[in-house]
Amino acid sequence: MSNVTAYALTKSKGRFEKTSITRRELGPKDVRIAIAFAGICHSDIHTAREEWGKVHYPLVPGHEIAGTVEAIGAEVERYEVGDRVGVGCMVNSCRECVNCLAGEEQYCLKGNIGTYNSTDVDGSITQGGYSTHVVVDEDFVLSIPDGLALDVAAPLLCAGITMYSPLRHWKAGPSKQVAIVGLGGLGHMGVKIAHAMGAEVAILTRSAGKEADGKRLGASSFHATGDPEVLKSLRGRFDLIVNTVSAGIAVPKYLSLLRLDGALVNVGVSPEPYQVGFSTLAQMRRSLSASGIGGIRETQEMLNFCAEHGLGADIELITADQIDEAYDRVVASDIRYRFVIDIASLN
Ligand code: NAP
Ligand code: ZN
Ligand code: ZN
Repeated sequence: MSNVTAYALTKSKGRFEKTSITRRELGPKDVRIAIAFAGICHSDIHTAREEWGKVHYPLVPGHEIAGTVEAIGAEVERYEVGDRVGVGCMVNSCRECVNCLAGEEQYCLKGNIGTYNSTDVDGSITQGGYSTHVVVDEDFVLSIPDGLALDVAAPLLCAGITMYSPLRHWKAGPSKQVAIVGLGGLGHMGVKIAHAMGAEVAILTRSAGKEADGKRLGASSFHATGDPEVLKSLRGRFDLIVNTVSAGIAVPKYLSLLRLDGALVNVGVSPEPYQVGFSTLAQMRRSLSASGIGGIRETQEMLNFCAEHGLGADIELITADQIDEAYDRVVASDIRYRFVIDIASLN
């Protein structure tokens, strides 16, 4: 075991404090990563504020991790010291179930092991990326292509894959009309990726001030959802809507924007159950679904795709003592579009 510096919450509703946590000794298949950058995902905030249930304290969030390999275990095959790597939302899974074998470890039938606040195979509680180092089995480590700077690559490990996976699954591409609801950390990556896949992209947002950004990111239209007339004018328009808003949207209204066989896919975690009538779905054979992150193979595919298309996140780099303030600003949607912690500031 070795001690490393981290920023943690030690109690519910507390503030982040500099602390020391332990990382396990390198197992034969482990990679020890010196973390350079960690993105702040809204899920970190939901978790830290116990909006998703009880938390194990101390809690070190962070599942958008980018850094370099510092040491490797004796049987590691895929990485060498000095490699540029990332870690996303999972650090392990059962590896045996039908979903793991299909490369969809996020849907492991036994539940994947989350990067933080999860019980690891040795019974310890996992701790995330707001720390100087992490030790992860090589099978859950991603390679960050040379074309991507580590700071703008970090948010791809959650925001990037969470959008890439449904966009691929529901076949965003040329001649497809795609709408992204909510222009935040996930949403802005969704616009960039869907545009790079060749789809025509619309942004549906409450924030009128983001129009110029939306066009720059690759959207061809921009719609203010506060005005009911705007939503009415979009009825039957889209093949795919990916909703990143967590506050809960009026699902039937958004379903009515879909054309024949269109799908509304939620990635924003709604606190309320969805309510939808039969005819809203049956009229146009529409579907309502939800999607969680992406598998390891697909995450690597996403990183390669983003490098090829020059897609990193739009970030604001902060120091570790600014995490509390950054959380408040994310909740107020006062960030364009992802905070990233400079891990050098932890020491
Ligand atoms: P974020 O950066 O805060 O973006 C969310 C966006 O939603 C905001 O920028 C805002 O966009 C819109 N919004 C926020 N509050 C709203 C409200 N009260 N009413 C309507 N719109 C509102 O968050 P994020 O990191 O992108 O994460 C978004 C959600 O996805 C969170 O629930 C997070 O936990 C979840 N998530 C899910 C997965 C998954 O695997 N499914 C993975 C990562 C995150 P506009 O100003 O443009 O409207
Ligand atoms: Zn996340
Ligand atoms: Zn499994």
